[in-house]
Amino acid sequence: MRRTLAVPVAIVASTTLALGAALGTVVPAGPAVAGPGPKPPPKASTATGYGGAVSSVDADATAIGLEVLRRGGNAVDAAVATAAALGVTEPYSAGIGGGGYLVHYDAATGAVETIDGRETAPSGIRPDAFIDPATGQPYPFTPDLVTSGVSVGVPGTPATWQTALDRWGSLPLAKALRPAARLAQRGFVVDDTFALQTRENAERFRTFTSTTDLFLAEGVPRPGSRFRNPDLARTYRQLGAKGIGWLYSGRLGAEVARTVQRPPLSGATDLPAPPGSMTVQDLATYQAPVQEPTSIGYRGYQVHGMAPSSSGGTTVGESLNILEQFRPKGAVPTLHHYLEATALAFADRGRYVGDPAFEDVPVDALLDDVFAKERACSLDPDAAAAKPVPAGDVASYDGVCAAPAADDDVDRDTEGLSTTHLTTADRWGNVVAYTLTIEQTGGSGIVVPGRGFLLNNELTDFSTVYDPDDPNRIEPGKRPRSSMAPTIVLRDGRPVLALGSPGGSTIITTVLQVLVNRLDLGLSLPDAVAAPRAAQRNTAAVTAEQAFIDAYGAALAAYGHTFAVPGPPGSSAAEIGAVAAVELAPDGRLTAVAEPTRRGGGAAGVVAPTLIP
Ligand code: GLU
Repeated sequence: MRRTLAVPVAIVASTTLALGAALGTVVPAGPAVAGPGPKPPPKASTATGYGGAVSSVDADATAIGLEVLRRGGNAVDAAVATAAALGVTEPYSAGIGGGGYLVHYDAATGAVETIDGRETAPSGIRPDAFIDPATGQPYPFTPDLVTSGVSVGVPGTPATWQTALDRWGSLPLAKALRPAARLAQRGFVVDDTFALQTRENAERFRTFTSTTDLFLAEGVPRPGSRFRNPDLARTYRQLGAKGIGWLYSGRLGAEVARTVQRPPLSGATDLPAPPGSMTVQDLATYQAPVQEPTSIGYRGYQVHGMAPSSSGGTTVGESLNILEQFRPKGAVPTLHHYLEATALAFADRGRYVGDPAFEDVPVDALLDDVFAKERACSLDPDAAAAKPVPAGDVASYDGVCAAPAADDDVDRDTEGLSTTHLTTADRWGNVVAYTLTIEQTGGSGIVVPGRGFLLNNELTDFSTVYDPDDPNRIEPGKRPRSSMAPTIVLRDGRPVLALGSPGGSTIITTVLQVLVNRLDLGLSLPDAVAAPRAAQRNTAAVTAEQAFIDAYGAALAAYGHTFAVPGPPGSSAAEIGAVAAVELAPDGRLTAVAEPTRRGGGAAGVVAPTLIP
């Protein structure tokens, strides 16, 4: 059951362009890719101070969020402005063609609430949507299936922004989007990651005329050159001026539906690019509901996360509840418990979690301490269990060991490794943790012609093969299960830590590992984020960064753990996650932390390094 707090998305025309000065001036349009530009803005992975904080993967985006805070905006205003900026500088990970999940702490009321801005399947989708009619077999996942109209879900990001601003923000949408529109117009300095991601997606992008025009007009953008996106600048300005009804019941929506149904094929590649069925009616019925978070107690903290349709909150929460049954001493025993707890929680995620509008997701049972106590019976403090471990039985549990297991479900994981996370805090004590995505790096590969943004391929987060018993099977109007896990931790009702990460299903383990590092092992937040990572998602081998294997592999092998590095050594595919976090001390001191090195390093900033009188 979805725990909706009765705030449907407001689809309204906005007249807010006139409502205040721009946060800067408009720079004239230029070509999409131009010559060498200045160096990118400096970035720090840790910043401490007062008056507000922003952490994201990108220096331009963090700078924009901080500027909004300095001008009196709150954490929600800053989150929307930062997210819009990430749509410019991280267009392959996030943007208005995608979706996401936002968790908000309201300092005035002490309430934590969330917005489910997940993309939905169109009403015309069929159970065999991912089967190639030519072969009768599922399309090869990458690049064939992900590069398609059929993978595109109804975007939820504009509705998320409008809902957040209406409910908690102080800026109108037009004003929150203005700095990002300026950034798109002026351009940003291409870094190695952007150039690499463009190169890696070149075949997918060349499949479509619109995407070729935007990202490959003069070949792969060179690091150090300036990348401009005047189409996106115009789209942001029009979205601000017309309101999100322009997408959900207006001309932009008609263009999105047409693009999904008839992707602008170039004929330059052999990819099949099957079309989707999205209609303007699918856009008109989209909602981004405000929901209660998942909430659990953990060693004196209250941990709030994202309820289904994401599996983030239940899986992080259940893992913590299992961990709370133990008090291991030292890093290696703690890491053994961490790996075993997530395997158990992932078994339950695969068995029970899907869109609550379609599935009766047993959230209360999954987060029940008694259930965790019983699941903890399967965690041997001295030895790794054989994987996959079976799911627990939510229908009958009493916390007593040797209860029967339900069955032997293995979670099939086809989630991408893109996405982005940002965390903001303001001078009043409001906090936002917001993870947004277009799923695969480069999403569906389809740019809406002339609009400057990519459409998502989020529907590939449904299980590829249809199984009527699978809570994550394809259904019309359904949200595919997510792993996104924006999380806010309170102590005595006050926020102490907010964080999140990209990384497909390793989002869950990444958030959990940072929590364990910080809360259980006592690492500082920068050290907790920098520490090498491992992810046990109920698979035979633990997925681990080489640095984790170097540090702990031998000691954990003694428990029976085996390890596999996720991608080619030295590549970003060999990294797990990209955390952006903010810690809040009782005296108002903020510590913003981003990755020091993963994905080229993130950008953390505070409004003022010293106390503002
Ligand atoms: N689509 C994934 C999810 O919703 C996230 C993809 C990623 O992090 O790269 O969980």
